[in-house]
Amino acid sequence: ELAAAGRPPDALRMTLVSRSTQLMPQHADAVRTTFERLLRERGIEVLLGRAVERVTDAALHCADGVEVAYDEVVWCTQGGAAEWLRSTSLALDAGGFVAVQPTLQSTNTPAVFACGDVAAVLAHPRPKAGVFAVRQGPPLANNLRRALLGRELKPFTPQTLFLGLISTGDGGCVASRGPLAIEADWLWPLKDWIDRFWMSQYTSALPDMAAEEPPPPE
Ligand SMILES: Cc1cc2nc3c(=O)[nH]c(=O)nc-3n(C[C@H](O)[C@H](O)[C@H](O)COP(=O)(O)OP(=O)(O)OC[C@H]3O[C@@H](n4cnc5c(N)ncnc54)[C@H](O)[C@@H]3O)c2cc1C
Repeated sequence: ELAAAGRPPDALRMTLVSRSTQLMPQHADAVRTTFERLLRERGIEVLLGRAVERVTDAALHCADGVEVAYDEVVWCTQGGAAEWLRSTSLALDAGGFVAVQPTLQSTNTPAVFACGDVAAVLAHPRPKAGVFAVRQGPPLANNLRRALLGRELKPFTPQTLFLGLISTGDGGCVASRGPLAIEADWLWPLKDWIDRFWMSQYTSALPDMAAEEPPPPE
C-alpha cells in the first residue's frame, strides 16, 4: 500500500498498544521473551499499560494522556460477551459471561447450562479458547443426561496446561505449554494440519448417515 502511495515500504512504523502491563500475560516468561525479541527485531514499538479510552480520526488517546498518531488501526481486543445476556435474569460474571458452577449449570438458574466462550466457570477461570471449549462438550452432554434422569450432576475441572501454537506472522511459530517455549518454522505447518484435520471432522470427514427409511404406508 505504501509503494502504491509512492512512499518507501520501509517507512511503515508499527506500534502495539495494550492496556495490559505485560505482553501475552496468559503465557510463560519464555514465550513473552521470545515475542519481545521478535517485536524488537522488527522495529515494532510496544506501549504497555496504556488503556485506549478515545479514538479520533488521527490518534488513539490513552487514559494516561499519551497520544498515538495513526494512519490505520487494527483492533485485537479480547472476546466480549453478547449484550443480550444482560437482559436475561441469568447470573453473569464481571465480564458479562454466564456464571456457571463446575457442573456447567447456571449459578442461579439450574435448568440452564452453558459452556465454551459464553460461560465463565467461576471456580475455574480460564482463557476464552477453543482448547477449553471442546473439552467441556462431553461433561456438558453427560450432565444434561443426568439432569434429565434426575441423577446427581458431576463437576468438571478443566485442564490447566494447554498447547498454544502462536504464529510469528512470517511462517514461523512459537509453541507454548506451561513454562516452555519452542520457536521453530516446522511448527506452523503442524498447527495448520491440526486445525484443518479438526475442522474436517465437522465437514468432509463426517461419517455417512444411513438414509432414513420411508414412512410406512397409512
Ligand atoms: C480468529 C480466531 C482464532 C482463534 N484461534 C484459536 C486457536 O488457535 N486455538 C484455540 O483454542 N482457540 C482459538 N480461538 C478461540 C475459539 O475459536 C473459541 O474459543 C471457540 O470457538 C469457542 O467455542 P464456542 O462453541 O464456545 O463458541 P463459538 O465457536 O463462538 O460458537 C458459538 C455459536 O453460537 C452461535 N450463536 C451466537 N449467538 C447466538 C444466538 N443468539 N442464537 C443462536 N446461536 C447463536 C454462533 O453463531 C456460533 O455458531 C480463536 C478465535 C478467533 C476469533
